Amino acid sequence: MGTDLLFADDDLPPPPEDGAEPWVVLIADDDPEVHAVTRLALGGLRYKGRRLSLISALSAGEAAAILGCTPHVSIILLDVVMETEDAGLRLVRTIREDLNNHAIRIILRTGQPGQAPEEDVVLAYDINDYKSKAELTAKKLFTSVIAALRAYADIVALDTNRRGLQQIIHSTDRLFELRSMQQFAAGVLTQLSAFLRVKPDAILCAQRGATGHPLADGAFYVLAGAGCYAEAAGQTASPSGAVIPPDLAGRITEAFHSRQSHYGPNETTLFIRVPDGHEVAAWIHTDRPLDDVDRALVEVFASKIAISFANVSLYERLREANETLEARVAERTRALEEANAKLERLATVDPLTAVWNRRHFLDLAAAELGRARRHRRRLSVFLLDLDNFKGVNDGHGHAAGDEVLRTAVVRAREALRTSDQIARFGGEEFVALLPETDLAGARIVAERVRDAIAGSRVVTDGRIIPITASLGVAEWSGAEPSIELTLRRADAALYEAKQAGRNRVCVADEPETPASS
Ligand code: GH3
Ligand code: MG
Ligand code: MG
Repeated sequence: MGTDLLFADDDLPPPPEDGAEPWVVLIADDDPEVHAVTRLALGGLRYKGRRLSLISALSAGEAAAILGCTPHVSIILLDVVMETEDAGLRLVRTIREDLNNHAIRIILRTGQPGQAPEEDVVLAYDINDYKSKAELTAKKLFTSVIAALRAYADIVALDTNRRGLQQIIHSTDRLFELRSMQQFAAGVLTQLSAFLRVKPDAILCAQRGATGHPLADGAFYVLAGAGCYAEAAGQTASPSGAVIPPDLAGRITEAFHSRQSHYGPNETTLFIRVPDGHEVAAWIHTDRPLDDVDRALVEVFASKIAISFANVSLYERLREANETLEARVAERTRALEEANAKLERLATVDPLTAVWNRRHFLDLAAAELGRARRHRRRLSVFLLDLDNFKGVNDGHGHAAGDEVLRTAVVRAREALRTSDQIARFGGEEFVALLPETDLAGARIVAERVRDAIAGSRVVTDGRIIPITASLGVAEWSGAEPSIELTLRRADAALYEAKQAGRNRVCVADEPETPASS
């Protein structure tokens, strides 16, 4: 093959001005001259603003070794006959099957087309172009290489897209698991920076404050901050404030204003509209301008974030509603318990004197009688009636009478033991239950109570009201089936006390024993 065939343009390639990665093209041919002319023909080629970087291999073995350790080789210009008659064809298999490289475009170039007929080779081997060296002018080579680069770029873009989408699915799955807005916002930044393979210097902002209140014009709330902006989280920021740098704050404000994302040379501001009406902006430092594929993926990512965001805020609202509901239930329960306790008190306690009422006393007494019977213990009662109480009401008024009742109860309780129970039996009559007490003991207790009441006074309107009481004491006989019978005997004793002049204690007779038959 003559050099004249390969020279379409004499110009040498200008040195690359930008830092864009070159396309890596591998020339595999055992003829050094082919390398030289190929380099001359392709040296100045630029595609999509990127120049070519040409690597040479003089055998299929060397080419395989280079491919094994060099990533992103876009094209191999591959000779068929090198160290063996079919070294090039074998290398095709190695590339596709052993190296599992399906992206690299393989342009087969042969000097002996008879040796490897085009139809057979194209059918049998996964190659992308077949050229006879004789027909390969510089122009044709140029066309072939451009076509191959285009295909390679598409394959890489598809692959990047596929990986990106996989990553979006993976990262949004993780975001869906986060239940608090704070965690979620931080998660968005982590996933976004991992996805773009950049350091997480980023912030996520909302136009409303933490409690949902609208903010002043140009101000926004930082939901989360990462990297050097971590401190900004939870604060209200604005272009004139000091929470984040003014240019960054300006970008965010601009995104909220224009409702559009902005892609800068080394930063990206995403505007995200959430289905529930919220608007969010994410700003991230990117080191590089995002290419079309990155942008398309970031937009998909943003739409997923929007859905997750709505999900989290719905969850937060539900949780708040639930907490309110729980607090209300707790409040109602407390009120109900209080009402129940009040009812219970009303059902068992006398409201004027705060001692047990008659009904509750009879319950207590029945239980105590059961215990006394089981354990063969003594049990006594006394009835107490205030003396001439009608005269107190008549002479001093009903209110004074009430005061006398309360005072008498206080004195009586002070004179009783803690194990004794006292109750209002009705009107100005009271009853006491004295467990583990025999008649003699009960008489002493009753006498102490009488004495305590007789020693007390109620003063009303400057007048002294003397108080006394009469008491009738009885001991449960052990044979009496209910406490009412014992109380009846105590009542008879009380009557005796009244008859005998009041302010005294009388003891009941023994119950009559039924005549034995
Ligand atoms: P005795 O010494 O014989 O027991 O005479 P007494 O006046 O104490 O007895 P009587 O049964 O004649 O009068 C009892 C009075 O107690 C009549 C009633 O109006 C009054 N009374 C009953 N319950 C209350 C009350 O809750 N408050 C007041 N202030 N008076 C009451
Ligand atoms: Mg009385
Ligand atoms: Mg009475």
